Amino acid sequence: MKTPSPLDELKMPLFEEKQVKVWIKRDDLIHDEVSGNKWRKLKYNVEAFQKGSYEAILTFGGAYSNHILATAKVGADNKIPTIAIIRGEEQLPLNPTLKRSVDLGMEIHYISRIEYRQKQTASFLEKVKEQYGNVYIIPEGGGNNEGVFGCKDIVKEINVDFDYILTDCGTGATLAGISLALKENQKTIGIPVLKGGDFILDEVKNYYEALKEDVSKIKNIELATKYHFGGYAKHKPALIGFMRAFYKQTGIKTDPIYTGKLFYGFIDLIKTDYFPKGSKIIVVHTGGLQGIAGFEERYKTKIF
Ligand SMILES: *Cc1c(COP(=O)(O)O)cnc(C)c1O
Repeated sequence: MKTPSPLDELKMPLFEEKQVKVWIKRDDLIHDEVSGNKWRKLKYNVEAFQKGSYEAILTFGGAYSNHILATAKVGADNKIPTIAIIRGEEQLPLNPTLKRSVDLGMEIHYISRIEYRQKQTASFLEKVKEQYGNVYIIPEGGGNNEGVFGCKDIVKEINVDFDYILTDCGTGATLAGISLALKENQKTIGIPVLKGGDFILDEVKNYYEALKEDVSKIKNIELATKYHFGGYAKHKPALIGFMRAFYKQTGIKTDPIYTGKLFYGFIDLIKTDYFPKGSKIIVVHTGGLQGIAGFEERYKTKIF
């Protein structure tokens, strides 16, 4: 794993015009398959697994999940058996994410979408233990205390003084970790990739409470909820067009599920003068590039 990940200043005429300075925290470069924030969230979970006497790691996800592939790869590298419970029915041939996960030795099971919604309940988790034995269970996306803890490291690795730090949000675990690690004068801006993204604040509050942290600190979070492009895994031509133009201009690839929306939102916030002149801004590139292949296959298109 390439950590600490690089912190690269990004220069654009727009930033000069608006008099802001921008750095990208390149968590996308940590690893091709154990990408970005999924490595952050797995790191302390793997340590917890190794301290215990578990037989395998068991986790949950959708069929294109970055977290599923990251878990498969970390398992293979550390000789830890991994089991994935996937939402929905098996689709053959396997998509690139699941095919690679199986090739890495991951055992895959499918449950219905209705059952999947019960996956956090005590009775469901009991059943899982009965069926799969003494497994270390990681929730969907790596969103538990260890996962949030790992995301604090993103901020700890940054050695410039900044005013704002942006991340995209699915469950809010990454945002919670970043928020927890900030100094008093710093703010974090979350860009939810789901519709109705205000729910993220409740999720962050849950993570804070699970860690017995002072929830008044959540005031350092602002959400920009209008960049979801219709909802999770939904897209519009404007998003794909932006991703291509951004790549051409900066050499930085983004993915259509998460980081394309993040950078689209970020550039729009700059254009609309969200940040005061003189602001120093960090954008966390949370990775997810493995998802491009699955997206291209599904929509029969090429992004880059
Ligand atoms: C999972 C993921 C996210 C969402 O992170 P949360 O901690 O669930 O909010 C953002 N970006 C990428 C690339 C991801 O894979």
